[in-house]
Amino acid sequence: MAAVSAAAPLASLQSRSLQAVWHPCTQMARAQKSPPLPIVRGEGPWLFDDQGRRYFDANSSWWVNLFGHSDAGLRAAITRQLETLPHVMLAGCTHEPAVRLAERLSARTGGALGHCFFGSDGASAVEIALKQSFHSWRNLGQPDKREFVCLRNGYHGETIGALAVTDVAIFRDAYDPLLMRAHIVESPDARQGNEAQALAAMRALLAERAGRVAAVIVEPLVQGAAGMVMYAPEYLRGLRALTREFGVHLIADEIAVGCGRSGRFFAWEHALALGDPAGAVPQDRWPDFLLLSKGITGGTLPLSLVLCSDAVYQAFWSEEVGRGFLHSHSYTGNALACAAANAVLDRFDAGLLDELAAQASHLREAFAPLAKHGRVEHLRQRGMILAFDVVDAPAGLAEAFHVAARRHELLIRPIGRTVYLMPPYVVDAATAGWLADAVRATLAELFPHAS
Ligand SMILES: *Cc1c(COP(=O)(O)O)cnc(C)c1O
Repeated sequence: MAAVSAAAPLASLQSRSLQAVWHPCTQMARAQKSPPLPIVRGEGPWLFDDQGRRYFDANSSWWVNLFGHSDAGLRAAITRQLETLPHVMLAGCTHEPAVRLAERLSARTGGALGHCFFGSDGASAVEIALKQSFHSWRNLGQPDKREFVCLRNGYHGETIGALAVTDVAIFRDAYDPLLMRAHIVESPDARQGNEAQALAAMRALLAERAGRVAAVIVEPLVQGAAGMVMYAPEYLRGLRALTREFGVHLIADEIAVGCGRSGRFFAWEHALALGDPAGAVPQDRWPDFLLLSKGITGGTLPLSLVLCSDAVYQAFWSEEVGRGFLHSHSYTGNALACAAANAVLDRFDAGLLDELAAQASHLREAFAPLAKHGRVEHLRQRGMILAFDVVDAPAGLAEAFHVAARRHELLIRPIGRTVYLMPPYVVDAATAGWLADAVRATLAELFPHAS
């Protein structure tokens, strides 16, 4: 009797994925040549593939992971919530995890941004803030204020409204005909030392258009998707003063730089630390809106938050439904995600920022010698974000670096010629040294004659 033939081997996860999954930010025709890594497990900063190989998640899985993968504290918090109330709609109902999260975030702004609207991802938070800004002006009898201002190379997400205030050509060009028109103003960049000039450009635009402008939206301190473009907090203080002077809202998009990434819980706090400009009143200190997402659940569940000032909130206060803020989506205020976010805040309450200062200096020290590498320029850092630019980068550097780095157990995705690390908050001196060695080894492989 013929032996029963062994079952045909399952198609590999990679080839099944390329059949069935439309991967984001990926030209699928090219993905055949460099297929996605089949990741089966995560532990701390490490991701493990189906062959048991490990990779250090140096970009925190697109900037969302804070404490490493499969963090025990987050797992426990989510599990506890799962056993009692995973989700209930937030219209007509409320629940402790959402209320507690909103109260705690408000407290972190000293009550300046005391009202919290819940979304599910960064782009939707941007859409919500744009709508709230416009609608609040309309409620105040200024319906003409419906234009938005964003910065050159800024990134605020890729839904149609968010993309309209995004200036990254690769994401925007194909869809440009669909987008509302926004004003794009010169952005500050410490490499160019143009902060004063960028503020002057903003002043010129607002002087001309303020009557029609609802809000200016910025990424505080670091324009992430532009390639970790960094600038000084003085720009933010200047921008706050300008937007007050011209009666325009300021939206701080802290989706990437919030939750301790910058070294403070909110990146905006670096501007506060400069002190108030002459004549400022307390409500001038914070932006009108502040957006969080990415790290707020430590990379476990999708959640975003739009915090706003009392002045914005009061503009909607009325018996009329049409003057209320109208934005609904199914998973708003999801209890599991809120429980995860509260567990993230617990870490900050327990003194995480002090640890982050130490971690950031480990990174600084380990990478400092790289500044002398012949192919490295503009080595820069803000808290737990470290970046440099590759000199004379060949075309396709980002992809080549990514592939080479994998051979050194490093998962990293440069942007253009900018190599950056945005690691989970688990960096001790040995880890920082290991990361610097892996980056140096990758550079050596790509550029054997430079050092
Ligand atoms: C990632 C990001 C967004 C968009 O968030 P998604 O969750 O990807 O929609 C918006 N703004 C900034 C600054 C971001 O980094």
